[in-house]
Amino acid sequence: MMKEYIEEAEKALLHTYNRYQIVLDKGEGVYLYDIEGKKYLDFVSGIAVFALGYGNKAYNDALKAQIDKLIHTSNYYYNVPAIEAAKKLKKVSGMDRVFFTNSGAEAVEGAIKAARKYAYLKDGRTDHEIIAMEHSFHGRTMGALSVTGNPGYREAFGPMIGNIKFARMNDLDSVKELITEKTCAILFETVQGEGGIYPAGKEFMEGVKALCEEKDILLILDEIQCGMGRTGTMYAWQRYGVMPDIMTTAKALGCGVPVGAFLMTERVAAHSLTSGDHGTTYGGNPLAAAAVNKALDLFEENHIIENVNVVAPYLEEKLDLLAEKYDYIEGRRGLGLMQGLVCKGPVGDIISKALDNGLILINAGAEIIRLVPPLIITKENVDEMVAILEMCLPV
Ligand SMILES: *Cc1c(COP(=O)(O)O)cnc(C)c1O
Repeated sequence: MMKEYIEEAEKALLHTYNRYQIVLDKGEGVYLYDIEGKKYLDFVSGIAVFALGYGNKAYNDALKAQIDKLIHTSNYYYNVPAIEAAKKLKKVSGMDRVFFTNSGAEAVEGAIKAARKYAYLKDGRTDHEIIAMEHSFHGRTMGALSVTGNPGYREAFGPMIGNIKFARMNDLDSVKELITEKTCAILFETVQGEGGIYPAGKEFMEGVKALCEEKDILLILDEIQCGMGRTGTMYAWQRYGVMPDIMTTAKALGCGVPVGAFLMTERVAAHSLTSGDHGTTYGGNPLAAAAVNKALDLFEENHIIENVNVVAPYLEEKLDLLAEKYDYIEGRRGLGLMQGLVCKGPVGDIISKALDNGLILINAGAEIIRLVPPLIITKENVDEMVAILEMCLPV
């Protein structure tokens, strides 16, 4: 049955993904089921999206109620779910202004525009530069791709948007060297996801922030993957005490409903995008906003971040043990429930074997196994994951 569906998919869908050979059907908690009824422990959560796990009743009921009431209305009118979602997002982030988008890439696009506009209002130039990082990932649209530090993703699609320079993450001097009077923003992921799970160092964060303040350059932090509680604080920068001027959030923001946002401080908002400068048809529509609302409520009610801080050290300990035990594993990197097992060779076979054995994993680059489970996982789930993974690691 799965085989036929997969054949049909390959005839109809554009082949931009090398998909794993399963057709998923439903989810329950931290488990997914394929259409033939096989059960999988999920350590990917739709790539750091389904933080609350699958089939959360309160979340589903809130969405169903909103569907019956109003799914969409234009951003030319106000809607209550978006107002409440923005208020809650301000509260958990400490930022001042919110613009809702449909995706992470769209949030990055908005962040870039906001930074360029801020600099433009200051000096009238239209040739501002942005410093991004090597190994970064910010999305697949042209602007987001232009700041993505993976030449392989960019090459065929040139020309990129201009005046982007790449520094090395955690190398403050490499950032300093690139700063000119045209630099309007420094942009990076607080914890690099796609590029290999590299957390920013505290000194780097503080150093970049100081540079930004000194030269009135905007610090943009991409929290699309590492935000929403994943590293043990609502946003990863909060553990460093280094606040960005603009930040992006998406993935787990709606816990499954496509929604993102870029946020900024009042200082930026007062001298940046204004009426007519930016828009989106769907962004922050009542259904998406209801998802954000309920997700943020449930994070609090269900003590999601507390759970991350209980389970993450246990996960780290177990992964460190694996790294000691298996020659193929070089080490572990990550923060909270965003972890990478750095291997000495390709991890594709390990991930495929895990799938056969009922465990969903994903890579981050060719040689890193990425673990970004639902934030509701328990220590027992960690043990279960380790037991399956051990069956798949080369000895
Ligand atoms: C996933 C991701 C994006 C892109 O988000 P989409 O919703 O896929 O457009 C951008 N930045 C980071 C850090 C991401 O992990």
